[in-house]
Amino acid sequence: MQFPISKTKTEGKERTFNLTDPVERNEYFHYKADEEIDKLKDYVRENSFIVYLLGKKNSGKGTYSKMFAEIINPERIDHFSVGDMIRAVSKDIQDPEKKIGIEDYLKKEYRGWVPAEDLIRAIEARDTKTLLPTELILALVKREIAKRPKKTIFIDGFPREMDQVSYSLFFRDLIGFRNDQDVLAFIDVPTNVIEERIKWRRICPICNTSRSIKLLPTAKIGYDEAAKEFYLICDNSKCSGYGSQKLGPKEGDELGIAPLKDRLELDQKLMEKAMTLYGIPKVYLRNALPADTAKDYVDDYELTPEFDYTWNGKAVTVNQKPWTVKDDEGITSHSLMAAPVVVSLIKQLSKVLGL
Ligand SMILES: [Zn+2]
Repeated sequence: MQFPISKTKTEGKERTFNLTDPVERNEYFHYKADEEIDKLKDYVRENSFIVYLLGKKNSGKGTYSKMFAEIINPERIDHFSVGDMIRAVSKDIQDPEKKIGIEDYLKKEYRGWVPAEDLIRAIEARDTKTLLPTELILALVKREIAKRPKKTIFIDGFPREMDQVSYSLFFRDLIGFRNDQDVLAFIDVPTNVIEERIKWRRICPICNTSRSIKLLPTAKIGYDEAAKEFYLICDNSKCSGYGSQKLGPKEGDELGIAPLKDRLELDQKLMEKAMTLYGIPKVYLRNALPADTAKDYVDDYELTPEFDYTWNGKAVTVNQKPWTVKDDEGITSHSLMAAPVVVSLIKQLSKVLGL
C-alpha cells in the first residue's frame, strides 16, 4: 500500500518553525494552508461532517483530529474513539444510576440478535471473550453522536470489525437525524514507527509526563556512569520531581507491538477493505516518505528528528538528525511530524467538501 505523497514544501521561502511549540505550530498552519483554513472555519460554522479515521492502532488518529480541531474550531469539532467509548460504558455500568441510563437508551435504540440484558451483563463482568455485536456498537456510536449535536465528528475505530465495513456506507442513513457529508480518512503509518514509539517511550513516575528518549527528549538529559546509560529528567515545572526525577519505561512497553499484533493486522485489513468502497469521498494521510526523495516534498523541519547523546565525562551533548526508519515495504524512510500530516488533511478535506 503506497499512498500519494502530499507536497508541503514551501519553495523559495526560508521561514522555519518549531513544530513542537503550540504557538509556532499555529503560525505554521496558517503559513502552509491559510486559504483552506479560512474556508473550513466558515464551513463548520453552519455545517458539520463526519470523518471515519481508519489506520492501525497508535497511528496518531487522536493527535491528528485534535490538532485539526484546534486549528479550525475546537467548539464545533469533536473526536471520539470507539475503544474509549466501550471502556467508558463498561465503567459507567458499574454506577447504578448511569447503568439505568444506558439500559433505557438501549431499550429504545438497540435492535439485534442478542438480548441487550445479556450484553450489559457481559460488559459488566468485563468479559472480553464475548465479542460485542455490531448492532450494539452501532447503537452506542449513535448515542455518542447524539451527545454532540451539530458538531463535526472524527470517529476513530469504526468500522472496528470486518462486518462493520459495509455499515459505514449506510451509517449516515442509520444515524438518520443528520445529513452530513461523510468522509473516510486513511492513515498509513509504518509498523516500525509504531514499534519504536512504544519502545523508546519514557514516563515520569510522578506526573506521568510521556516523552521519548529517541524521538522527543526532555530539556535535561542525565548520564548514569555505572550503567553507561543516558536518561531523561522530568521538565514539567508542575511536577514535584522537576529537574531531578528520572523518566523510566512504562510496564509492558518492552514487549513493543507484540501484544498489538492481531489488532494491527485487523486494522490493516479493515483499511484495505474500506479503500475499495465506492461513493464515499476518501482522504489519504501518509506518515512516512522515502528518505532519498523526502526533501523534494517537505521542508527539513517537517521531518521527525531522532536524538542521540554523547558524554565527555562532564556533560551530555544532544545530537539531532532526521529519524530513519524502514517502512512496511522495507524502504528506508523519514517519518513526518504530526503537523504536516494535518496540513495534508486540511487541504484534502477542503477539496472533498467542495470548498
Ligand atoms: Zn514529572
